Amino acid sequence: MSEPHTTDGLISEDTMRLDRSADLQAVLEAWHAATLRLEKTHVALQEEVSRLTTELEKKNRELARKNRLADLGQMASHVAHEVRNNLVPVSLYLSLLKRRLDGDDGHLDVVAKIETGLTSLDTTVSDLLHFTSEREPQCDCFDVRELVDDICDTLAPQFAAQGIEVELDVPNDHRLFADRHMLRRAVMNLVINAIDAMPDGGELLVTSVQTADGVEIEVADSGDGLADDTRSRAFEPFFTTKATGTGLGLAIVERVADAHGGCISSTNCAQGGAAFTLRIPTQQLASRAAA
Ligand code: ADP
Repeated sequence: MSEPHTTDGLISEDTMRLDRSADLQAVLEAWHAATLRLEKTHVALQEEVSRLTTELEKKNRELARKNRLADLGQMASHVAHEVRNNLVPVSLYLSLLKRRLDGDDGHLDVVAKIETGLTSLDTTVSDLLHFTSEREPQCDCFDVRELVDDICDTLAPQFAAQGIEVELDVPNDHRLFADRHMLRRAVMNLVINAIDAMPDGGELLVTSVQTADGVEIEVADSGDGLADDTRSRAFEPFFTTKATGTGLGLAIVERVADAHGGCISSTNCAQGGAAFTLRIPTQQLASRAAA
């Protein structure tokens, strides 16, 4: 082993001891810094694992819910088709009976009650069929204004009967690339809910806003608005607070929005009443159709 040298000969033992202790100190500091970095990485990884676990649990719950709904949907669809098939002859016989009873007001009164029951049954069946329909959107270009006018014309007798004033803020140049039939159903459901929310009259406001990626259609009413528990469950299939409701109206709207890559949201208006906003992206669908 060669002797350590200084510029003028041997270095002292003290200098060597100092050097070694400085080296050891540097190693210890590096070790400490590495440990701290590892600890931080460990904590960050633990947080990421916990976030991903929560996300996975949420997705699993959603999947389980979707599977349950799919099973329920299949059964409901089967029952709805059976009921509809049997409703057709019953309605035909009823109109035949009505003709035979022409002038017999007492019996015609009973027939009218049966008719009302059948109409309500038909609405339920039709809601079920729409809810369970797996149809892919068949998209076309159409004017939002024309769609809203069509819906308001259809519901004009109800507006008049309940004293509802209708205001439309839907510019003529707003266009949608979407399945018109599905959109009509969705907006119609929102307007019918607004009518139901104003049994003693009120104001209905339908607004359309063109955004960077599509169109937002808002249906607002001046009814009582949504209570907290109703708001959190309103989109659940079969949830209803109405004596004769099916609880499928908003579930259908949500399904239509999903099928178009859009969404539906609800809020209570500052001035009272509820507002539902349906967002339909146009770009996404146009590119999907082109693909
Ligand atoms: P249904 O109309 O058959 O009850 P929906 O799914 O359309 O089914 O609505 C679910 C529930 O959400 C309704 O029963 C009602 O309580 C609530 N809701 C929907 N729209 C409105 C509205 N515009 N104002 C107040 N509550 C509403």
